[in-house]
Amino acid sequence: MHKLVFLGDSQVGKTSLIQRYVYDTLSPDMTRTIGAVLHIKTLELDGEFHKQIIWDLGGEESFAQLREQYCANASGAFFVFDRTNLKSLEHIDRWLNSLYAAAGKVAVVAVENKIDLESVITDAQIRGILEARGLKHIQTSALENKNVDVAFEELVKKIRERGKY
Ligand code: GDP
Ligand code: MG
Repeated sequence: MHKLVFLGDSQVGKTSLIQRYVYDTLSPDMTRTIGAVLHIKTLELDGEFHKQIIWDLGGEESFAQLREQYCANASGAFFVFDRTNLKSLEHIDRWLNSLYAAAGKVAVVAVENKIDLESVITDAQIRGILEARGLKHIQTSALENKNVDVAFEELVKKIRERGKY
């Protein structure tokens, strides 16, 4: 069983990625949810069943104190940024620092979301920021359902490698 948290600025598409993955739909009403919401989905990987408890923090992403509580006991995290918003990538350390402070050095997968839109961030900028932090990156579109499953598989694989369940 894994507690997975979604990190990243407001509006990058965290709730949409979860909705797409768990319910295969985008429900616009969910984006205004307040507080932490849990979703559960089991992923089968090489014959092993991984129960994922997926946490979504609605609308309160800017409160540092809440972030640490939200991250406590996480087995892994997604850092989501929006390719149409450079700031959402530049804010990476505020998210990683909260995560590492609350949960230790757990597995992280970076997610470049909204690949159905033109990017304002260069590949070199993305590589520079992510490689310096040892992160692998996956390109997704919650809107067009591109690579959303792959992102979850990647994270569970990383968690499994570290042996932290
Ligand atoms: P959150 O604040 O990080 O949870 O972001 P939301 O999931 O609420 O999404 C913010 C906005 O971005 C909404 O208008 C979504 O419809 C839109 N959005 C989310 N994912 C995508 C995507 O992959 N492509 C596009 N074009 N829009 C997206
Ligand atoms: Mg949200």
